[in-house]
Amino acid sequence: MKPAYACRVLLGVLEEAHVSVYEIGLRLQGKPVLVVGGGSIAGRRVPRLLAAGARVLLVAPEATTTLSDYAAAGEIQWERREWRSGDGDDAWFVLAATDVPEVNAAVAAEAEARRTWCVRADDAAASGAWTLAHTEFDGVAVAVSASGDPRRAAAVRDAIAAGLRTGDIDAPRSRTVRPAGVALVGAGPGDADLITLRGLELLRQAEVVVSDRLAPQELLDMLAEDVEIVDAAKLPYGRHTTQEQINAVMVERALEGKFVVRLKGGDGFVFGRGAEELDACLAAGVPVEVVPGLSSSIAGPAAAGVPVTERGVVHDFTVATGHVPPGPQSKVNWTALGAGNGTIVLLMAVKNRAAIAAALIEGGRAPETPVRIVENATTKNQTVRQCALADLGVTEAHHPSVIVIGDVAGRAREL
Ligand code: SAH
Repeated sequence: MKPAYACRVLLGVLEEAHVSVYEIGLRLQGKPVLVVGGGSIAGRRVPRLLAAGARVLLVAPEATTTLSDYAAAGEIQWERREWRSGDGDDAWFVLAATDVPEVNAAVAAEAEARRTWCVRADDAAASGAWTLAHTEFDGVAVAVSASGDPRRAAAVRDAIAAGLRTGDIDAPRSRTVRPAGVALVGAGPGDADLITLRGLELLRQAEVVVSDRLAPQELLDMLAEDVEIVDAAKLPYGRHTTQEQINAVMVERALEGKFVVRLKGGDGFVFGRGAEELDACLAAGVPVEVVPGLSSSIAGPAAAGVPVTERGVVHDFTVATGHVPPGPQSKVNWTALGAGNGTIVLLMAVKNRAAIAAALIEGGRAPETPVRIVENATTKNQTVRQCALADLGVTEAHHPSVIVIGDVAGRAREL
């Protein structure tokens, strides 16, 4: 039998180690915590200490910008000097994170003498306590230790985090904090991975999901059998428009006490009728949360290697809908857009692209202005075409496409 302690330390990994730790959750709300050293390790740990409610005292002659911003905002107290004996007198917990091993050793020794738990960031073997690799999902915190091997712990943590997010690891729903009402969730541009963490968290708790044609199908496939899925594209018209039907279904189900997620492609507030749905919920007195999504107007160009702005090249971008052709009915000032020199991103513009290109050129945009057409952006069917503005009308394009016009389109990076 090997003795249960660390023998040698190599690159911060305990060799031959079989070190048992006692995992515990420290409730640090309002408790003083001492952090010595203001480098990147402290920078990584302080946000979580603050999230746990700790009163952080930072002792360090220098600190990273993030840490000094915390100090400037009054979120931590920063003593701008070297550590000295007695700094940890009030502390319930100490983090020794300078880049000088002797200082860390002195900080740790003093903490030990006072029987205060101390993490030494530079030397796991000499450390009285370890910071465990940590992840959180939907109110569940997971902390991983791996006999003092931080990389292995982080790898296992990443695997667990991914499993919780995708649902491969089932985290039974909390009985105490069940969301209520309606969440208007932007599902992102097409790739199921591009929904936000919050969006996914709410989706996994949904009892009813009202879905859109452009919302990623994979997100619906992962829902439990008992979740009611309402396909907005298939609602019966009858006396009411589809939008009225959607609003009615959302509100009805929410009033029955079910938690409803309205899942939309991209961001619900970018040509997504999010405002109308929000109004319907507010009018019915239904609690509502808005979860922004990654809009295809920015993500579409990005997925094709086109940044919508670029330093020294373009300082503005405009997102316009092309579902109404230029003319008295359109609310877009196409002439002004043509006269500018910023990036123009068009949604719902496949049908009217010839008329729009003509109006932009008439407004002053050069006929040779580069254009990229990004179809099915971020999905496995993504297709990118390019042309000059003058040829937009005769260049192949299919729904759904984002059309990006301007100098940035001519500077697309190969991905
Ligand atoms: N709320 C959505 C936009 C809805 S309007 C968002 O923020 O992304 C619908 C239009 O969005 C489509 O006609 C198309 O122009 C664009 N669009 C949405 N998803 C797209 C995708 N994956 N690829 C290209 N265009 C997309």
